[in-house]
Amino acid sequence: MTYEKVDSFKKNHNFKHVINVSGTMTSLGSSIIVPEATEAMTSIAQKFINMDQLHCEAGKIIAELCDSEDGFVTGCAAAGIALSIAGILTKGDAYLTEELPDTETLQRKEVLIQSGHVVNYGSPILQLIKITGAVPKVVGTSTQCLPYSLDGAITDKSALGLYVVSHHTVSYGQLSLEEFSKICHKKGIPVVVDAASEYDLKGFLKAGADLVIYSGHKFLGGPTSGFIAGSHELIKAIKVQNNGIGRSMKIGKESIYGLMMTLKAWQKRDHNAVRDKEETYIHFWKEQLDNLPGVKALIAPDPTNNPLDRLQVYLKPEECGISVVQMAKKLKEYDPSIFIRAHEAELGYFFLDPCNLHGMEEAKIVIEAIVKNLKK
Ligand SMILES: *Cc1c(COP(=O)(O)O)cnc(C)c1O
Repeated sequence: MTYEKVDSFKKNHNFKHVINVSGTMTSLGSSIIVPEATEAMTSIAQKFINMDQLHCEAGKIIAELCDSEDGFVTGCAAAGIALSIAGILTKGDAYLTEELPDTETLQRKEVLIQSGHVVNYGSPILQLIKITGAVPKVVGTSTQCLPYSLDGAITDKSALGLYVVSHHTVSYGQLSLEEFSKICHKKGIPVVVDAASEYDLKGFLKAGADLVIYSGHKFLGGPTSGFIAGSHELIKAIKVQNNGIGRSMKIGKESIYGLMMTLKAWQKRDHNAVRDKEETYIHFWKEQLDNLPGVKALIAPDPTNNPLDRLQVYLKPEECGISVVQMAKKLKEYDPSIFIRAHEAELGYFFLDPCNLHGMEEAKIVIEAIVKNLKK
């Protein structure tokens, strides 16, 4: 959005403009939707379409991008996880699909998840398992899950293993996806991977996942949506869930088509140019902060190896006069409102995420506001 457009947006509505250096957050409207998607969404808005055909075409694009047999678009990644579980529980049986979340008659309804993967991405993942009628079975401890912890927990009640790839998970002591999949497959249960926020669209299926779920509205820059990649058989069982619990997670034609064009645009995007721009912001910020008393700025790679860096800024309140919590609160009150990435504030640092900026103009506003709040 150009600043001209931002101003008219502000004039017509009572919203404060937000500068997002926090990341692709649902609470801030996710990401900047790419123009290819907004054009597609407008072009389909007033048309009728056979939704099954639209889903089929979307599936082909997902399959190509993820190197999978098939794919399916959902309302968001969380919906994709729930529908994947529902599909595996019911195997797409029409009667059982309508019975969910009643799973009384099902033999296999337990979903195994490592303790260090029990995350909250805005809502708790165990709740997502439970809304399908499945029963979560947490294995291992928050800092240690060994092969026997999973192997011993799989019984004839187990339906699937759920594996989370995210900066939210405990980053050590958990089984790798390869180990996790090997154990699940040996005991005959499939593996579902929540990769909502990951750039790697092919690696998790290669590492043993049967289904992988992504967000459409995070790094891809699509409309609010999610998608699942996997085999024809599993995707078929998942599609049926739209006649069951999936109904309350509905995605419209405009978002499906918008996501399709987002995925096509992703294949053509100049990823190096995007990265270069992000690195420019990070180095610019770092220069402004280096040598200020009580401030240490480090370039931090993404914790799950996504191809992006952030600036990690440590504050020593006794020297710079402000804590991370106070800084985050102050910047939010500005107009435009500035949101920094401060979810680890108690550890004495925040991050500046360069991925959602509208150019250097915003990068300057952010750093000027931060420096102004530091004691000279
Ligand atoms: C963002 C996120 C989700 C939820 O994704 P939505 O598309 O917003 O539903 C789930 N899991 C992880 C690990 C996430 O980062």
